[in-house]
Amino acid sequence: MTIPKIDIHVHTTMYAEIEMPRFVGDHFASPEEIRKKYAAWGIESGIILPQVSNECAFSVQSNEDAFIIAHSYSDLFMWFCNLSPRMGNNDAKTDFSEFIEHYKRYGAVGVGELTFNMYIDDPMTENLLYHCGECDMPALIHIAPNMYGCYGVIDDIGLPRLEKILKKYPKLRIIGHSQPFWAEISTNVTPKNRNAYPGGKVTEGRLTYLLREYDNLFCDMSAGSGYNAMVRDPDHAYRFMEEFQDRMMFGTDICAPHNEMKLSHWLDDAVNSGCISQTVYRKICRDNAIRIMKIDYYRENQKKSRQ
Ligand SMILES: [Zn+2]
Repeated sequence: MTIPKIDIHVHTTMYAEIEMPRFVGDHFASPEEIRKKYAAWGIESGIILPQVSNECAFSVQSNEDAFIIAHSYSDLFMWFCNLSPRMGNNDAKTDFSEFIEHYKRYGAVGVGELTFNMYIDDPMTENLLYHCGECDMPALIHIAPNMYGCYGVIDDIGLPRLEKILKKYPKLRIIGHSQPFWAEISTNVTPKNRNAYPGGKVTEGRLTYLLREYDNLFCDMSAGSGYNAMVRDPDHAYRFMEEFQDRMMFGTDICAPHNEMKLSHWLDDAVNSGCISQTVYRKICRDNAIRIMKIDYYRENQKKSRQ
């Protein structure tokens, strides 16, 4: 049986008409365009991740913007606040707890996606991540392969810097995302394939090791990267979802009105054909998001603020 999903990774704008188009002509989808997609894909609601970092934006989006959209479409959206380590004082000692607690009061349920192009263990990045942990807010990271020509926090093949952070900040919950994150589901990751969509049978890679070793690591299944990591070897994917059923979350990463996504129906097929259990399906499609982002608490507060 299928159930309505929660999308932990979506982008939208109130200004689709006037937003600076990307060079390929794209712009973000409007809330109403997303509403139609959600209805077709069996999604109940989504979490807006504002694009505050210029590395990933033709038009930078503020936290305040994300808040306004989430509140104007409260049946459809929740929101993360987002930060870049240079905000405030451009200093590795900036007190980001002040920022995060401020946005928490306005209902933010996490921080991200982090798309600034600095090393994940740069003292500036570490400072931001430390404060996410102190404020008990999950940080959703887009991992990049290198500096320039891409966006996201940088790590090397095998994600050794991510491991260092997971070990050093056990209170910090990291939600991993992007091609270089999911490429690590298998071995044989190369400089050439890690920012793409490597195919073929999976032989247990560094991602499995990190998930077994560090219970503060979670997976964002959104975008082509998450989907590819599943469908490249479905039998492995079913086992992987069984083992990490408390750590994986459904997402879309809709970035433009024409974006398609196959993960939703793929998960529906997996449960309907008995390849994954109803319990695993339910956790991945919504219950993990509710637990990890404390969404019941968010909704309770929203109800109170409307009364
Ligand atoms: Zn995204």
